[in-house]
Amino acid sequence: MVNFFELAAPGVRGLTPYQPGKPIGELERELGLSNIVKLASNENPLGPSPKALEAALAASKEVELYPDGGGFELKAALSERLGVAAERITLGNGSSDVLEFAARVFVTPDNEVMFSQHSFALYPIFTQTLGAQAVATPASRWGNDLDAMRRAVTPRTRLIFIANPNNPTGTWLGSAALESFIRDLPREVLVVVDEAYFEYASHPAMGAADYPDTMAWVERYPNLIVARTFSKCYGLAGLRVGYSVSHPEVADLMNRVRPPFNVSSVALAAARAALEDEAHLRRSLELNAQGMQQLVAAFAERGLAYIPSVGNFVCVDMGRPAAPLYDALLRQGVIVRPVGNYGMPNHLRVTVGTPEQNAVFLRALDAVLAA
Ligand SMILES: *Cc1c(COP(=O)(O)O)cnc(C)c1O
Repeated sequence: MVNFFELAAPGVRGLTPYQPGKPIGELERELGLSNIVKLASNENPLGPSPKALEAALAASKEVELYPDGGGFELKAALSERLGVAAERITLGNGSSDVLEFAARVFVTPDNEVMFSQHSFALYPIFTQTLGAQAVATPASRWGNDLDAMRRAVTPRTRLIFIANPNNPTGTWLGSAALESFIRDLPREVLVVVDEAYFEYASHPAMGAADYPDTMAWVERYPNLIVARTFSKCYGLAGLRVGYSVSHPEVADLMNRVRPPFNVSSVALAAARAALEDEAHLRRSLELNAQGMQQLVAAFAERGLAYIPSVGNFVCVDMGRPAAPLYDALLRQGVIVRPVGNYGMPNHLRVTVGTPEQNAVFLRALDAVLAA
């Protein structure tokens, strides 16, 4: 028998698979429950714009044809919306796709890739797969510590991932601090600012007054790559569309490693329609702002500390190991996210749901805390 483990690339042997939020269907099968509430993967509880669904349905009638591999129409719509040239845009099968392209283009086994402690789990996976050295800098008050990152840069540093706001902690970096960090970096160090929760964080009700407008920076900093997605606020996680905005040469390189049809025709059509439905986006943002208030007020009432968040999720400190509470919540039909694998064994990450879903979660929480 071949020892496949021995055959695997060295970086791959050391990987632990990404742990996604538990799917509703799996919990239904395991516990025979129905009416399950899933607040585990930062999905939009309103779902996508009905116009996006209509566009997806129309596009589904031509699925025998390959999609437009260049994504011309979606790029044109994004270009207009964001005020950046289409040649700066790279489309991904979700934004995790473009994060990986950035790593594959620039990172060799001689390089270091930097990111913060308590940050997105895909960064070390992409790094180690390439055989490069992952450098996790210590967090400051649960967020990216830019001073610690600055100090950790070496001649081998090639790429830095910064999630803003950060997942799973919801912390954010303000404009002045982030821009001066990027300005001071050697130009050979690429910075990926991962803005999966951009729409939430830039909504005034979330209170991140100095949240950066990085689109204005891409012309100034050729080593900056900004990544965004349709998975979160646009409610299209299941269709997989994301994109990055960068220097055109960086985009050209990323497009060389991109599989030609990485974004499906259905996804391209839905994303373009979603972009146009500003009323739906506004409803999603308002629902999130209210739901966040509902959750944090309830945590405060219960004496539970939480990490202030500008995303559509919040980490609550249970003051004891959270894994058993996660399991107990599952038995109540509520799926949240344990974050022990992010170095946060006492926290649970809860996605903001509808007012009803939030109430179901809070009732379940009270039940498990009283047990
Ligand atoms: C959800 C998320 C993404 C993107 O997910 P896709 O579905 O691949 O677009 C990227 N970064 C962070 C930090 C996220 O939380």
